[in-house]
Amino acid sequence: MTTYNFSLQSGETGPLMTGSRPEELRIPLSGMTPILSVGDQVLSGTKVAVANSPDKGDMHAPLAGTIRAVEPYTMIIEADGRGNAEPQTPCAESGEPLRRWLKAMGVDVTALYRAATLIVNGVPPEPGITVFEPLLRDYRKTLELGLDTAQKIVEPTKMFLVAAKGNRANAFANCTVVHVPPVYPNGLDPLVIKAVTRDEVLPGLRPDNATILSVKDLYFIGRVMETGRPLTETVMTIGGQNHLVRIGTPVGFLAAEAGATVQPGDRVILGGPLRGMAAVNLEQGVDKETTGLTILRPEASLQATDNFCLGCGQCERHCPARIMPGMISRCAEFKQFTRAEAYHIHSCIECGLCGYWCTAGRPLLHYIRLAKYELALLAGARPPAGPDAEELEAQTGGPSC
Ligand code: SF4
Ligand code: SF4
Repeated sequence: MTTYNFSLQSGETGPLMTGSRPEELRIPLSGMTPILSVGDQVLSGTKVAVANSPDKGDMHAPLAGTIRAVEPYTMIIEADGRGNAEPQTPCAESGEPLRRWLKAMGVDVTALYRAATLIVNGVPPEPGITVFEPLLRDYRKTLELGLDTAQKIVEPTKMFLVAAKGNRANAFANCTVVHVPPVYPNGLDPLVIKAVTRDEVLPGLRPDNATILSVKDLYFIGRVMETGRPLTETVMTIGGQNHLVRIGTPVGFLAAEAGATVQPGDRVILGGPLRGMAAVNLEQGVDKETTGLTILRPEASLQATDNFCLGCGQCERHCPARIMPGMISRCAEFKQFTRAEAYHIHSCIECGLCGYWCTAGRPLLHYIRLAKYELALLAGARPPAGPDAEELEAQTGGPSC
């Protein structure tokens, strides 16, 4: 078995790097309604899709160019880089109008709601993902602007910055620093919330009178406020360096830029090795939430098998949610999805440790994600409906603030 390093220590990283311009962008459209069509010309910053969820940010073109295809989950833009959309005047209001403006500018506003406690998560989400380090060091003013803006919506009475012990943690004004041991999975939101509030929160549910934003979220908000331009970039760790990357940049382009060769049998992971998702192909474009690009050689990948569960209990011993991944995986394997709820599947924080330690090499996290997906369908989940025509017209008219 390949041995991973579970340390969350970032060390001193280099400055954020900006890559060259790809000739083609593949904008992810999952959960979005495209508002432009094939052949339309766009400028850098033109809105191209509206998020179906009221909490997700809308999508804008990161580069000027021509829309070449609109597929169910992807919009392809042939980039020519000629021209930027006019910047907006940053919203001077607070509360709901500011929240709506940020959403229209591409920011995910799920965690922006009124709460007494605002937690800033500065703990790396996975080993080797160090994007917070250069942001905390070199983009201090942007982060402060992001935090000031978030406070206008959240209106907290207490603020905390949570950092891995030994990592950079220069506190913001009125923000108490909380250190956690620099070991994975301590950077995952449910564990960071627990480190501050002592409460355990089911993944995806709001904590009681608290909310959590990552350092990267603050950077996104601050960047939109200081430039008046929509969010069209993400920050990713690639090959140990941190990069500003345009949304929709194909993973194959990024790998080539980083000097990595992708061989047959390699797995290209969006994110880190423990919880990241394998790219469908090298043309897949990165999304706003993508934090890293990891190339796993066959000898370093979990070679998933359909071996029987041995009942050895290794997965349980390493599960931070204190549940029984082996039993849940058996429920999923035999399509007994509702039985997985009796084993507290919804408490799983998807850290991936069970799969790493499984004696039989079973793909436990995949089974768990499959069961969660099937349970959501059984509960009546549907792809979110698109906005109606009137709403769409109002939204495409641009931010109202
Ligand atoms: S991924 Fe596995 S180890 Fe991690 S919380 Fe879920 S069941 Fe537990
Ligand atoms: S570690 Fe693997 S084999 Fe052992 S109980 Fe868990 S799922 Fe079964």
